[in-house]
Amino acid sequence: MKSLRFSSIPTAFAVWCIACIGASQAQAVSLSLKGVEQQGGILRGETEPGTSVTLNGKSVQVSPQGYFVIGFDRDHKGDARLVLSSADGSSLERVITIAPRKYVTQHVNGVASKYVNPKPETLKRIRAEGKIKGKARRLNTKGEWFADDFVWPVTGILTGTFGSQRFYNGQPRRPHFGVDIARPTGTPVQAPAPGIIRLAEPDMYFEGGLVFLDHGHGLISVMMHLSRVDVVVGQKVEQGDIIGAVGATGRVTGAHLDWRMKWQRANVDPANLVGPMPKNVSKKQTAKPIARP
Ligand SMILES: [Zn+2]
Repeated sequence: MKSLRFSSIPTAFAVWCIACIGASQAQAVSLSLKGVEQQGGILRGETEPGTSVTLNGKSVQVSPQGYFVIGFDRDHKGDARLVLSSADGSSLERVITIAPRKYVTQHVNGVASKYVNPKPETLKRIRAEGKIKGKARRLNTKGEWFADDFVWPVTGILTGTFGSQRFYNGQPRRPHFGVDIARPTGTPVQAPAPGIIRLAEPDMYFEGGLVFLDHGHGLISVMMHLSRVDVVVGQKVEQGDIIGAVGATGRVTGAHLDWRMKWQRANVDPANLVGPMPKNVSKKQTAKPIARP
């Protein structure tokens, strides 16, 4: 097996390596899984090329080099069963215990009422935009950029975390699925890992400037509230390429980047892919760190 690209993982994140002998011919099925086994978790795996993988009986896409990715929704319940089968009939089973998480409740006040209770005529626009987003998310590419190391798209004060239960102006709404990073409007936003741009919209109702960056196999970074979008659909970007700038567009109370991540239909936590936010970022902070939602 070739060397893992997973070598520079932060130590706070656990790495498990398991190898087992399935058949008497000593044909091992190997599995390296990197990630956090918890709700919202993203696990990236490597096995021998040609191995097939199922998660709870459903086929998981494996790249020709043997890389794959799986994710678990905010409210995932119970264990998950990963089965790897090699071409020669050897197999390996791994039960993944998904740890539950406690989510905080966050009250966000001062949100313009048009974003909390949109007018009937606005709902048409919101539905149309929902279709555009849904279509862009369904694209499932063969790229294996998800196996790369990720970096924060911007650094700054974290003002919102994955999964928090949100109340806008006192009214309960869907949980927050992103990581909010407060920075002034115009701060460049970089690609956290390579990928292909699947959506590049300057003006969506809730999200404002919105970019989908597809890291392959259904793992998509979503960048919201951008003041500027510097990429176009279909464009290949490398890690560190500027995709736009922080803004205060859409449903916000201040300038920030909301970085979300989807794996297939699941909302997963992008913070799982990067280390802790670097220290001393607050000194670069000029906007008041109230930036939400
Ligand atoms: Zn947010």
